[in-house]
Amino acid sequence: MSTLFSRAAARTSNTSFSFYLPPTSKYLHAAAPLADALTIAGPKGPAAIRKLRDEGFASAVLFDGVGYGGRDLPPAAVWVEEQRRAGADRELLPGVFLPWDKEDFTTASTLISSEAMVARDLGASMVIAVDARWVGKRTEELTDMLRGTGAPVAMILAAGGDPLAVRGAVRGLRWLATRVPNLSVLRCDHGAIGAVTFGAVHAAIGLTTGNRHFATSGMRPHKLADPTARLFLRNLLDWFRAGDVAGWAAAGADITCPLPGCDGHSLARFLDRDNDAVLHNLHALADFADWIIGAEPEERAATFMTECRDAAQRYGLAGFKGPEEPKPQLTGWALL
Ligand SMILES: [Zn+2]
Repeated sequence: MSTLFSRAAARTSNTSFSFYLPPTSKYLHAAAPLADALTIAGPKGPAAIRKLRDEGFASAVLFDGVGYGGRDLPPAAVWVEEQRRAGADRELLPGVFLPWDKEDFTTASTLISSEAMVARDLGASMVIAVDARWVGKRTEELTDMLRGTGAPVAMILAAGGDPLAVRGAVRGLRWLATRVPNLSVLRCDHGAIGAVTFGAVHAAIGLTTGNRHFATSGMRPHKLADPTARLFLRNLLDWFRAGDVAGWAAAGADITCPLPGCDGHSLARFLDRDNDAVLHNLHALADFADWIIGAEPEERAATFMTECRDAAQRYGLAGFKGPEEPKPQLTGWALL
């Protein structure tokens, strides 16, 4: 496959979504047909996918080497070549992390310029993990730094908890998606689909907390006591613990899922860890992403906003036995 051909054919350079998974995931084969691509996390991605390619695996794949998180990667040129040999849909740089600084823009600007230069040189996408406060509070400055670099941008949002719960981050992401050409949002939750509706080309959605955003060692992730499975609820557009869902069901709520694999059964069954919730989550996220991405381009944003508003309105209804308050990200989208 010539480089020129793979550029022209890059599936993930046009409105699309992938699941963001580690190379060791046992769900690669299940996830691939439900999305436009897979994004494989970590340095071992290309080797793992090459092995699968030998067995006939044909899906479009991106590789996030997590160099921005200090993972040990070969030099950029070698890392890009490894991805090419694994049939990457397009190649990504190892990546840099943009720490928050409310006064100094020079460091960030220098980091982005040098990343862009390497990206252009290697014909790859730059990878910028960015403290979510840049998106929320310095939106215009960040936009100015990222647009006009001449290289596609893959962005990862960093925060201790949900980066899109950071004040201004939802609005900031929309702003960036509208103005930065060839923007992808990787290692995110379904909020990345929101970015796609406003002009980003690709969203890579993770299934676990650690794969739905990036956190530096200085950012303290929230640790939850409830160890039951996490479930993505399509009609509430958020993740909930199976323990909570089972509680609502016990109180009389109708918490069933009509999608393949669940086929109308109650989600309360995932309280039993022997019942694997991952297939439910894959189908629920893919159903949402397909509904939005499958809409006519000029209707995508409106479709997404309607979904968010409808979901937000389902919380706290009289007689509703589920969660009472939507989380800040959903409120953020619903109020845009
Ligand atoms: Zn389901």
